[in-house]
Amino acid sequence: MSDNILVGVRIRPLIPREVNEASAVHWKIGDGESILQIDPSSRRSLCSPYKFDRVFGMDCNNEDIYCSIAEGIIESALAGFNATIFAYGQTSSGKTYTMMGDKQEPGIIPLAIRNIFQSIENNPDREYLIRVSYMEIYNETITDLLASRDQKGKGLAVREDISGNVYVADLKEECINSEEMLLAIMKKGNKNRHVAASNMNDRSSRSHAIFRLILESRERSEGDDSDVAVTVSHLNLVDLAGSENASQTGATGDRLKEGGFINKSLFMLGRVISQLSEGEQFVNFRDSKLTRILQLSLGGNAKTAVVCTVTPVGIEQTHSTLRFASRAK
Ligand code: ADP
Ligand code: MG
Repeated sequence: MSDNILVGVRIRPLIPREVNEASAVHWKIGDGESILQIDPSSRRSLCSPYKFDRVFGMDCNNEDIYCSIAEGIIESALAGFNATIFAYGQTSSGKTYTMMGDKQEPGIIPLAIRNIFQSIENNPDREYLIRVSYMEIYNETITDLLASRDQKGKGLAVREDISGNVYVADLKEECINSEEMLLAIMKKGNKNRHVAASNMNDRSSRSHAIFRLILESRERSEGDDSDVAVTVSHLNLVDLAGSENASQTGATGDRLKEGGFINKSLFMLGRVISQLSEGEQFVNFRDSKLTRILQLSLGGNAKTAVVCTVTPVGIEQTHSTLRFASRAK
């Protein structure tokens, strides 16, 4: 068990399609941050409860999730810790809704952005430099979601500098000076992701989107400031591929790439997170693009939160997500 990994589960309400089809609800929130499968008609429980750090029922909104699981991590990032927040779950369980939200209900990313600029305003004694990058990993190829049109589609390479720090070569980093500017860049990246997805059916369910903020700050000082300590941290906000793509079996034809993994990065992430939470000495960061890119922001002093999203109608998929979530703790 690790204090640096926080695991939450969110069960979304029925969506209009499911309401129209009169879909049955198979899950409920139990006592003490737990979730369990129920018989839809009798509502009697059908399994022992899965327990987590936090459980969010159908009536929770993005703001509740943010306050309960994300805010502390954003504050750690502002204080200089590397940090990562993931949304993990099957396609249509609410990952993008949780991370991005919509106009009525902004998600973790826009709420984090608001929080960061408020903190900066409340801290006139420090000066901040904020940079942002936004990338997507699809089939182990990294694409820059902020790149201009002529550079789009070019796969980016993962490299290591002389001190062994991993970075993505040629990834665009924009310097930010206002909340509005950062929100505009986020929207631009989302639009690029969307365009790529509609050109290829299952791309959005099989790709990972990493929204990364680099927060640099130092004490404001008059005159010579050469000896002022600078704090730098990375904050990664990640919308993962649908967890139905994590399995190692069941792959056929085209999907059977790279040694049988439908989605190598997702599969390897599961392994890395359970190795970290077990406190294992050796962690397989190098085995996929996603875990390599996030290496500095997972384990060690870094703060991690995983929000696992589930649907109320899924049975096997929901058990599978809950088993993943249990392994992360
Ligand atoms: P994913 O990114 O996991 O594939 P989405 O975030 O796109 O799933 O959610 C699927 C659908 O469910 C969308 O129409 C979304 O608006 C809706 N939805 C997801 N979570 C919620 C929620 N907590 N409240 C209301 N609607 C939700
Ligand atoms: Mg999505």
